[in-house]
Amino acid sequence: MTVTLDRTPNPDRIALALVNGVRVDAGGDYLRVSDPGTDEAVGWVPWGGADQARAAVDAASAAFGPWRAATPDFRANLLRRLALAMHEHTETLAHTLTREQGKPLTEARSEIAYAASFLDWSAEEGRRVAGEYMTAAASHRRILVMRQPLGVVAAITPWNFPAAMITRKLAPALAVGNTAVLKPAEQSPLTALAIAELACVVGFPPGVINVVTGDPDAIGQSWLSDARVRKLSFTGSTEVGRLLVQRAATHLTRLSLELGGHAPVVVFDDADLEVAVASVMSAKFRNAGQTCVCPNRVYVHRSVHEAFVSRMQSAIARLVVGHGLDAGVNVGPLIDDDAIAKVTEHLDDARARGAVVRTGGHLVQPRPGLARRFCAPTLLEGLTSEMRAAREETFGPVLGVQAFDTEAEAIALANALPYGLAAYAFTRGLDRALRVAEALDFGIVGLNETTVSTAQSAFGGTKLSGWGREGGKWGVEEFLEIKSVTIG
Ligand code: NAP
Repeated sequence: MTVTLDRTPNPDRIALALVNGVRVDAGGDYLRVSDPGTDEAVGWVPWGGADQARAAVDAASAAFGPWRAATPDFRANLLRRLALAMHEHTETLAHTLTREQGKPLTEARSEIAYAASFLDWSAEEGRRVAGEYMTAAASHRRILVMRQPLGVVAAITPWNFPAAMITRKLAPALAVGNTAVLKPAEQSPLTALAIAELACVVGFPPGVINVVTGDPDAIGQSWLSDARVRKLSFTGSTEVGRLLVQRAATHLTRLSLELGGHAPVVVFDDADLEVAVASVMSAKFRNAGQTCVCPNRVYVHRSVHEAFVSRMQSAIARLVVGHGLDAGVNVGPLIDDDAIAKVTEHLDDARARGAVVRTGGHLVQPRPGLARRFCAPTLLEGLTSEMRAAREETFGPVLGVQAFDTEAEAIALANALPYGLAAYAFTRGLDRALRVAEALDFGIVGLNETTVSTAQSAFGGTKLSGWGREGGKWGVEEFLEIKSVTIG
């Protein structure tokens, strides 16, 4: 994206970084946060760098001892209070989220509730961290295995879920006694700062949550060259993930990497087409197709291919595109001009290679005064593996459909890419459902279902989609060190 820096922004709309419970400036330029639907300035945040990143680690490091020593109940109560505060301030938070990110207000409200669910879940999970006591090889020895917090953990998050990506990392980390430093995405730092402010209001001690904004490379580099940072949890692109892996080598900083995906959907001949269409619709077009688990390619058994495609076409044609704050809108703008360029390239490429556009396929101007950043929800028939849309994450409201004849062919197509985040299958046969779930080489599989990310489940990918899991007890384990104590 093109970063816009201002030296003299509107002082009433500056959201400062939050370090050690205090709002801090970076003493230089400010990053302009724009409404992707109108290009209006929504606010400004400091353009911080290594100094701010280090100050945040200083604060988190100083806060670690007392926070770790606090009881799990104390930490759980604060997490629950923050969840409650987020529910109480849903309208303000959702409004900020829609303004900076673009998704429809109804989706933004759901994201706030979803984000709060990680706080509630982790609050309980943090109270149940347990060790083990075991006999050893020699009869006079015993082994005690304890689980302890890591220390200061860093989080770097993307723009597509400005609230949920933050709580999904911070909640489990804090619940088990770690302190945190966070850098939200350039496009959507205001929601992150608003949540951190609420954390201060509900009583989180200074230094437990620190949020810095600014130069991603300098901040990331600073944290990975600081031995006090014991873990970095990153959600974003595979490209940046790779860079962080190299930089983490210095101190062998632990990493969790939630990276890009390219989700396939397999619709078998015995599928309930109504369920399949409704599920694919909600997963594909929420957030204008800008989610890492959204379906990109649908493989449909040839015998039900036309039935599926025509139902999808009618459902897509009913979607309303517009600004996220306008009433009745289902699909908002794309995040920036790079996103629009990528979607346009994928559409041009698909057409040139023979895809048939059943609906959409072009940019739209929902009403005067809006930016040229809206894409009509699109259905491509005749997707082939050579097309860019079938190989690269489109990150837009474009869905390609391809017919298949055999289960083996469908599985081979689904597994063909180097990504392994989410995959979906629709079938009424239990034996087939389980066989397919086992065969799909992905970290997340939805069977007759596309709502796959919840506070309870394990979220994460295989192959180029990353390492580690978020959510459930697995998300908590990512923030614990195992220590084995042998007793003579
Ligand atoms: P991105 O460019 O990788 O950015 C993600 C975060 O990394 C942002 O905070 C960004 O900061 C930061 N960053 C950029 N360059 C960096 C560097 N050199 N060092 C340290 N941090 C750096 O990804 P994106 O375009 O925002 O997000 C879309 C991608 O995220 C997609 O591939 C999507 O699939 C993936 N994603 C994955 C999941 C998942 O759970 N698997 C969830 C959501 C999204 P700036 O914003 O300041 O550049």
